[in-house]
Amino acid sequence: MNNFGHRYTGLIERYRDRLPVSESTPIISLGEGNTPLIKLHNLPKILKKNVDIYVKYEGLNPTGSFKDRGMTMAVTKAVEAGSKAIICASTGNTSAAAAAYAARAGITAFVLIPDGKIAMGKLAQAMMYGAITIQIKGNFDDGMRLVKEVADKAPVTIVNSINPYRLQGQKTAAFEIIEELGRAPDYHCLPVGNAGNITAHWMGYCESSATDVTKVTESCAFCEGHCKYAGSIVGNRPKMIGYQAAGSAPFIRGAMVDDPETIATAIRIGHPQSWDRAWKVMQESGGWFDECSDEDILVAQKLLAQYEGVFCEPASAASFAGAMRDIQSGKIAEGSTIVLTLTGNGMKDPDTAIAQCTGKSVMVQIPAELDAVRQAILNNLAP
Ligand SMILES: *Cc1c(COP(=O)(O)O)cnc(C)c1O
Repeated sequence: MNNFGHRYTGLIERYRDRLPVSESTPIISLGEGNTPLIKLHNLPKILKKNVDIYVKYEGLNPTGSFKDRGMTMAVTKAVEAGSKAIICASTGNTSAAAAAYAARAGITAFVLIPDGKIAMGKLAQAMMYGAITIQIKGNFDDGMRLVKEVADKAPVTIVNSINPYRLQGQKTAAFEIIEELGRAPDYHCLPVGNAGNITAHWMGYCESSATDVTKVTESCAFCEGHCKYAGSIVGNRPKMIGYQAAGSAPFIRGAMVDDPETIATAIRIGHPQSWDRAWKVMQESGGWFDECSDEDILVAQKLLAQYEGVFCEPASAASFAGAMRDIQSGKIAEGSTIVLTLTGNGMKDPDTAIAQCTGKSVMVQIPAELDAVRQAILNNLAP
């Protein structure tokens, strides 16, 4: 279905036929989805490998992370069911999205966030959108446990990824990728916390491969065989690769982790909520889990910003850190098409970014004089 001549009004409208909504569902949207799929130009040359790498820049969603894809569905369905309040535990981005969509819907959002360890931008968002922000003396996993317990005892709808509508919304990222590439990639790499997103992407790819093969290889009623997808083979599905931060890597340890630690706060999760489903994704897709050190994550974050102009948050960079290693080692074969999900915007976590950018080449201090500015330019021009 094309949108020519129409304003883009969010992913529910766009994928209405593949989502659990009806004509009368009151859609709560901020225009989420439709994020850019950016082909990396400079980093593959540095890797000296013949691979096509695309980043799906989810940081450009309305609240700056992919959580908006799930939240538009979760809040829409909560409102449809008559709910007046939503609740979530969050490392930051879920609370930002919940707060924004609740504001849009005119309902209350309660967000449980860990004491400290939340990026400044995310905290600012939850507060500014008007959520009731409850800081607990514990981590995400503690918050998640409490949210599950309290939802039985109070009139609130949980909007964490255990809410099935979250994954329904998030699966649309896979639809967008297939539409842009004309096929599924060979590999799809994501950072993994609760593992909801990797599960949702796999759902999206599976639904597409089940329906689009016939839909697209035959000419459809709209394009009569002239659109760019006609004749393309989209029955393929990618191998899914999930990267965790080494200090919070239950999927690598093969067991829950009680004291998760990482600079990538968005994936500082020791008890993933989609544990069984994510293992099934690996089995079905032929992919794998691996881990990245915090150092590698920060290096990857900086490389993406400085060589491609794409600023993602640390957790997001885990997908590039891991992919770089697997491309270099040949585990991801040359000739492959690879999509990396960059889950959140780098501006969410300015403290971690600034702390990495020290030294003379980054910030030069001079008197407010013409000569000094001229000299600073000459000193810093690339040879
Ligand atoms: C939520 C989040 C993740 C982890 O996604 P899961 O579905 O929990 O695996 C990764 N990166 C960012 C930026 C996030 O906000």
